[in-house]
Amino acid sequence: MQPSEAPVRTSLVAGGAGFLGSHLIDHLLGEGRAVICVDSFLTGSAENIARFEDCKDFTFVRQDILTPLQIERDVDEVYNLACAASPPRYQADPHHTLMTSIVGSSNLLEWAAARGARFLQASTSEVYGDPEVHPQAEDYAGSVNCTGPRACYDEGKRAAEAMCFDFLRLGRADVRVARIFNTYGPRMRADDGRIVSNFIVQALSGEELTVFGDGSQTRSFCYVSDLIEGLVRLMRVDPNPGMPVNLGNPLEFTVGELAARISRKIPSSGSVRRLPLPQDDPRRRRPNIERAASLLGWSPKVGLDEGLSQTIAWFAQCMKTTRSGAAE
Ligand code: NAD
Ligand code: UDP
Repeated sequence: MQPSEAPVRTSLVAGGAGFLGSHLIDHLLGEGRAVICVDSFLTGSAENIARFEDCKDFTFVRQDILTPLQIERDVDEVYNLACAASPPRYQADPHHTLMTSIVGSSNLLEWAAARGARFLQASTSEVYGDPEVHPQAEDYAGSVNCTGPRACYDEGKRAAEAMCFDFLRLGRADVRVARIFNTYGPRMRADDGRIVSNFIVQALSGEELTVFGDGSQTRSFCYVSDLIEGLVRLMRVDPNPGMPVNLGNPLEFTVGELAARISRKIPSSGSVRRLPLPQDDPRRRRPNIERAASLLGWSPKVGLDEGLSQTIAWFAQCMKTTRSGAAE
C-alpha cells in the first residue's frame, strides 16, 4: 500500500483534558493512534495532558467547542466528552452547559460528518432524571424536571442525543451514543464536587464527610478503566448499534454506605456531616447493562474496593506532592 493510501488512524477527543478524556487519550495513544485533544480547560487541566506533551502523535488545541473547529486534519474518530460533569460545576454557568451540549455537539457533528469520521457522544444516566423504573434500561424514556437546576445538563444531553440520532437517520454520520453512569478514578479534580472525590479528599484531610440528605439515595460506581474500555468498544463495534448503550457498574450502593467504606479505608477520616439534599437529586440509580454485554461483550471488571484503593492512593500522592511543594 502506498503511504498516501494508508488508512487514517487519528482520533479527536473533545474534553480530552478532563477526567475521562485524559484516560481515553492514554488508551488511544497506547494503541498507536494519533490524537487531537480539544479542550477549553473549563473543568479540565493542563496537568491531565502534561504526560502527552512529548508524544509526537499528540496535538492540543485550546478552544471552546461553542466555536466551530478550524482544524484541517483528517480523522476517523471523534469522541465528544466536552461538558462539565459535576453538578456544582455544570450549574455554575447553566446557559454555557446547555449550549455546550447543543451548539458544541452540533459543531463537532458537522466537523465529523465533513470528514466521514465516526462520532461517539458521551451521554449520561441523567437522561433518565430521577427514574421511576429501576434498574434503568435504555428503552426507559426517563423522568427529567425540565425547569429544575439539573435541567441545563440533563436536557442538553437529551437534545444532543436527539441530534446524534438525526445525523444517523439522515445518513450524515456514523454516530454512537454512550449513556455513562457515575464513574470515578484518578485524575478527578480535588475540587470537582462529585461524591467520590469529595469523600476521599475530605477523609485524607481529616475532615467530616459531607453526606447530602439522609444518605439513602443510591448510585452505582464504575471504575474509569472499565468505562474507557466500554467507550472504545462502542466506537469500534460493527454494525452500528443504532441505539444508545448504557455503560456503568450495576452494583448499587447508598451514599451512606460509600461514606462508611471510604472511612474504613482512610484512618484519618472524620465523622459524617449531614447537609441538605440538593433539589432533584435522583433517589436511585443503577444501570441495566444487558445491551452493552450482548452488543459489545462488555462488563465491568474492577470492584468498588479495588477502584477506591487505586483512587485513594492517587489522591494521597497528589496531596503529598502539593504539601511538599508548598513547604519548599
Ligand atoms: P470533566 O469535567 O472532568 O471533563 C470535561 C472536559 O470538558 C473538561 O476538560 C472541560 O474543560 C471540557 N469542556 C467542558 N465544556 C467545554 C467546552 N464548551 N468546550 C471545550 N471543552 C469543554 O468530566 P468527566 O467526568 O471527564 O466527563 C466527561 C464526559 O462524560 C462529559 O461529557 C460528561 O457529561 C460525561 N459523563 C461523565 C460521567 C462521569 O461519571 N464521569 C457520567 C456521565 C456522563
Ligand atoms: N453527594 C453527597 N456528598 C457530596 C457530594 C455528593 O452526599 O459531597 C451525593 C449527591 O447528593 C448524590 C450522590 O452523592 O446523591 C452523587 O452525587 P454526584 O455529584 O457525585 O453525582 P450525581 O450522580 O448526583 O450527578
